[in-house]
Amino acid sequence: MNIELLHTDTLTQAREKLKNETKNFELKVHRVACEEALGCICAKDVIAEENVPPFRRSTVDGYAIIAGDSYGAGDSNPAFYQVTGHVNIEEQALMTVDVGEAVQVQTGSMVPDGATAVLMVEYTEQYADGKIIGYKAVSEDENIIQVGEDMAAGDCLIQRGREINARDIGMMAALGICDIEVYVPPVVTIISTGDELADIREPLTASKIRDINSYALTAEARRMGMTVRRRLRVRDDEKEIFQAVSQSVKDSDIILLSGGSSKGSKDYTKKVLEELTGNVFTHGIAIKPGKPTILAYDREYRTVIAGLPGHPVAAMMMFRLVIIHWYCEKSGLQMCPPYMAKISENVSSNQGRETCLPVKLVRDADGFMAKPIHAKSGSIASLGKADGYVRIPRNQEGLNKGAFVWVEVL
Ligand code: AMP
Ligand code: MG
Repeated sequence: MNIELLHTDTLTQAREKLKNETKNFELKVHRVACEEALGCICAKDVIAEENVPPFRRSTVDGYAIIAGDSYGAGDSNPAFYQVTGHVNIEEQALMTVDVGEAVQVQTGSMVPDGATAVLMVEYTEQYADGKIIGYKAVSEDENIIQVGEDMAAGDCLIQRGREINARDIGMMAALGICDIEVYVPPVVTIISTGDELADIREPLTASKIRDINSYALTAEARRMGMTVRRRLRVRDDEKEIFQAVSQSVKDSDIILLSGGSSKGSKDYTKKVLEELTGNVFTHGIAIKPGKPTILAYDREYRTVIAGLPGHPVAAMMMFRLVIIHWYCEKSGLQMCPPYMAKISENVSSNQGRETCLPVKLVRDADGFMAKPIHAKSGSIASLGKADGYVRIPRNQEGLNKGAFVWVEVL
């Protein structure tokens, strides 16, 4: 057994160290046009500087009246109004409405001063030239959207850290906000290491396996909105690894290496990272899967470097739990909230180490059931079939069937 890897950090400790080490790392910010902002992460709260709507608007086609004039009106007891004008949707309402008067408006028209409600056209009838009857009582403010009722000047509409969606872009358009400050996506280099690895386009020869990690990690990084600068595959060769990392450290914010993170005879990641950065601060995290994880930070180039385990499930999980978590903290980005579910069977866990259990979510009558996916840690399919994972704390003796768990969505 390897003594060095016995001194592991808990996930919380490793996250804390990474946070402290990277205090001088700041995500870059730039402005993008409203129509280009979809999927970007907002870097500064967007505050409304105007009221929407900027004037009182009718929400229906009908007649702007004084609500009190309609009180008591009904099918057998109509109210009478004198029509004194008409406000087209693009017009400013320059008239005022007095007792017994009605001004015709459209959905979205400005409501004239004096009017306190709009009576829907469906409840009215023309009975003489310029005169209508109304068959319904309306209350104060009925069918009127007030100034700033939708968005008021000073409201925070898009918070820092929000991944901008179509609705946010709609709000920006409503306010005439043409561009927004967002984070520049971090630049990532992904390096698979291993003599046994073949590219997916190469024929497989004896004892070779296909490189899963560089593809899966690249896809995951892209899904998180990151920019993948390069995807490399290198042999278990100290020089080759050194060269790949030293080239990337200058132009990447994050480097993900997978494989070679343990202490086997061909495991060079730690040595290379020590040499290059002199700042390896974690080697080993008390989590299953994912124990052989290395974290380093290059202070000069401000590059976060993770030596992830070779096992694809562990590599993906540790990318998520450590590096994506860090990115979320830096940017304020919130991951999808977890689902509450009942675990479908008894689960034992590895005491002393936190366990990350991939699960499938199945809907039942009362909510969700989390079905554990059992597989050896080398299996990529276990993650492929999973909808999420459950974290079982290190000091907990597994889970009893039916226990409520939080499922983090993958
Ligand atoms: P290592 O961490 O290098 O000891 O690798 C642990 C296990 O993960 C070994 O069985 C490797 O063959 C496998 N492995 C390492 N890198 C990859 C990769 N990029 N794709 C698929 N499997 C890998
Ligand atoms: Mg290896």
